[in-house]
Amino acid sequence: MKTPICEICLRSELLCSACQEKVNSGELKENDVEMLGLIYKESEKNKILSCIEIKKIIDGQGIVLVVCNQGSGRKIVGKGGVFAKRLEQAAGKPVRVVEESSDVRSFLQNIILPVPIINLNIIYTQEGEKYKIIIPQRSRLPMPLKTFQSIAKDVTGKNVEVGFEDEGLKKV
Ligand SMILES: [Zn+2]
Repeated sequence: MKTPICEICLRSELLCSACQEKVNSGELKENDVEMLGLIYKESEKNKILSCIEIKKIIDGQGIVLVVCNQGSGRKIVGKGGVFAKRLEQAAGKPVRVVEESSDVRSFLQNIILPVPIINLNIIYTQEGEKYKIIIPQRSRLPMPLKTFQSIAKDVTGKNVEVGFEDEGLKKV
């Protein structure tokens, strides 16, 4: 299992200087270290988790995002959501497992599943590029808009706006 924290630290629950530096620099929060420790404990009991890679933990108020490599999402969620449920209990809030993608649209798509992204536009503003995703009318993001925006900024490095599909356009 690969995570931003080395395996020795996950096992010992004490941080080596390299891992401690990641916490000091703000790259990782103490809660993230705790969450990685939990996933590691699960991986000791369940072989299926031994080959996963956790890229990042994002603690967005009210929800925790576990960003993993492609193909690991289902393993971390577990059969019938069993691992995810245990992680949620430990975190005390909903946990969403998201597979990383180098393609911005599919990465954002993974975050808001099952809501489909109909379109992704790049908007050029004086402050730089922004993304705007279009979702169907009357659909609801699986998390508050502000939470999504802070998570989306974290993973894409850009501000992300959300708009609804124009029903008038749809009829054309
Ligand atoms: Zn370490």
